[in-house]
Amino acid sequence: MPLSSGTPGSFARSFEVGAPMSDSLKIKRIAIVGGGTAGWMAASLLARSLPGSGCAITVIESPDVGTIGVGEATIPPIIDLLRLLNINEADFVQHTGSTYKLGIKFTDWARLGHTYWHPFGSFGTMINLRPFFHAWHKARADGLSLCFDDYSLCASLGDQHKFRFPDVNAQGPEAGLRYALHFDAGLVAKYLRAYSERLGVCRLERHVLDATRRADGALDELIFSDGSRLASDLFVDCSGFRGVLIEQVLKTGYHDWSAVLPCDRAVAYPCELTTARPPYTQAYARPAGWRWRIPLQHRVGNGYVYSSAHLEDGAALDDLQAAVGKPLADPRLLRFVTGRRRLFWNRNCVALGLASGFIEPLESTSIHLVMSGVYKLLEHFPDLSFAQSNIDSYNAELINEMERIRDFIVMHYSLTERSDTPFWDYCRNMKLPDSLIERIELYRQTGRIRTKAGELFNDLSWFYIFEGMGVRPASYDPLMDVVPSAELREIFDKIAQLTRSAAKQSASHDSQFAARAAAMMAGRIASA
Ligand code: FAD
Repeated sequence: MPLSSGTPGSFARSFEVGAPMSDSLKIKRIAIVGGGTAGWMAASLLARSLPGSGCAITVIESPDVGTIGVGEATIPPIIDLLRLLNINEADFVQHTGSTYKLGIKFTDWARLGHTYWHPFGSFGTMINLRPFFHAWHKARADGLSLCFDDYSLCASLGDQHKFRFPDVNAQGPEAGLRYALHFDAGLVAKYLRAYSERLGVCRLERHVLDATRRADGALDELIFSDGSRLASDLFVDCSGFRGVLIEQVLKTGYHDWSAVLPCDRAVAYPCELTTARPPYTQAYARPAGWRWRIPLQHRVGNGYVYSSAHLEDGAALDDLQAAVGKPLADPRLLRFVTGRRRLFWNRNCVALGLASGFIEPLESTSIHLVMSGVYKLLEHFPDLSFAQSNIDSYNAELINEMERIRDFIVMHYSLTERSDTPFWDYCRNMKLPDSLIERIELYRQTGRIRTKAGELFNDLSWFYIFEGMGVRPASYDPLMDVVPSAELREIFDKIAQLTRSAAKQSASHDSQFAARAAAMMAGRIASA
C-alpha cells in the first residue's frame, strides 16, 4: 500500500507545546458523507490502509436519501481491490449475487444488425515486440480471413456462455485471461459496510443539512437535521449527484460534458432471469441512446440510457419494456448531467463517486473511478496543513484520468455510421475534443494508438472500439514486415488453435453458480 501506518496519537487539532510536530499535524478524523458504493468502498480502503493510525473514520448515511444502486457492471481492477482488501473472492461473489464478466458486447452501434466485442484479457500475442493488433492490420492487408474470437479467449468464452479463471502458469491464452464482476450494488454496500465496521469504522444515520467553515474557508463541522454536529479534519463527500459538501457547501463548480455525451437520463429495472447468464455485459444501441443488460445470479438488471432532448421518458420506458418484459421492481427514473466537478479535492474535502461527477455507464467506469480516487487519495494522503501543491497534484491526475475516459466513451458514439434517428445524426456530427480528434487521426493514418501515463484504457481497448466501429487504418506498422506473411499465417493459425482448445475445455458460466441455484430452487435463499 502507498501509505504506511502511523502511530496512534491524541485527537488534538491545534499545535500543542511539546507534542511532536508530525503527530500534531496528523489527520485524526475522517468523515465520509454517504453510504452508497462510493462511501463504503472509501471507508473499506481507508480503514484497511490506516490501521493503528489513531484516525477515526465515520460514515454518515441519510435515512431520507436512498442510494443509486442499479445493477452494476465493473472492470477487472475490481478483482485487485478484493485482493487488496484481503476479501475472499468466492465469499464476495456469493454474498453480492455476482456473476463473472469477460467484457462487453455491443450491438447495433456501428450500424443496425452489427455486433462487436470489447473483451478483457489478452489479444493474440506480441509479435516482433509489437502488440498483436499491428499484426492483425497486416494480416488483413494480406487478405487473411480473420475471426475475432480466435484471438481473444474472453470473447470466445463469452460467445459460448462459458467461463474459466486465468491460469498464469499456462503457455496458452488462459494465462492472459482477465475478468470482472457484475454485482448487486446494494448488496456490495452492505458487504463493505460489514467489512468496514469490523475494522472499526463508525456509522451514523443522520441527514447532513449543512457544514460550518473555518476562517480559512475549510470545512469544520457537519450540521445534522436533528441539530447535532460532527467535527472532522478530512471530509469525503460520497453523497451522490447532489454533492452535499463539494457543491452545496463549497460551490466548487461543474464542467458539463453533455455536448459530447448527450444522454442525460436512464430508466432502469430488474427482471427475472429466464435464460443462461452470459458472462458479459450487453450494450444495445437504441434510437436515442442504449440499453444495458447485466445478468446477476438472482436476476437481470436492465436500463435504457437516453437523451431527453431526443426521447420522452414514457417512450424510453415503453422501449425498455418491449425489449425485456415485466419488471421485478418499480422502474426507476434517473437524471444526470455528464461531466465532472471543477475540482475533485477542494480545501479539506475530497469528492468521490457520483458527488465527483458522472460518465454514463457504457464502459462500467464509475465504480472504478471511486477506487482510483481512493488510491490517489492514499498516495496524496494529507496532513493538517493541506499543502496546495498536494491537492493540485491529486486533481491533475484524476482530471486526466476522467477526461481520457470521457474521450473513450465519446468515441463509441461519434464513430457510428447510423443515420436512422436525429440522436445518431447528432452523435456523428458533434464537435469532438481535440484530444480525441488527434487519437482518431493517428489511428486512421497509421494504425497506432499512443496512450499516456494515468489512462485507464490501454491501446488494446482503444483498438477494440476502432475495430468494432469499422475504422480501418490506411497503413500498418512497418515493423510488421520483418515477419514474412507465410510465417504470420502460421502464428495466426497456432493462436487460433490454442484459443479454440482452451475454450473447448472450459465449463459453462452458469455452472459456477450451480450450488447457489440449487439452494434458490430449494427456497433457502430469498431473491433480492
Ligand atoms: P449514491 O449511491 O447516490 O449514494 C449516496 C449516499 O449519500 C446515500 O447513502 C445517501 O443516503 C447519502 N446522502 C445523500 N445526501 C445526504 C445527506 N444530506 N446527508 C447524509 N447522507 C446523504 N457504475 C459502474 O461502475 N457500473 C455500472 O454499470 C453503473 N451503472 C450505472 C447506471 C446508472 C443509470 C447510473 C446513474 C449510475 C451507474 N453507475 C455505474 C454509477 C454507480 O451507480 C455509482 O458510481 C456508484 O453506485 C456510487 O454511487 P455513490 O455512492 O457515489 O452515490
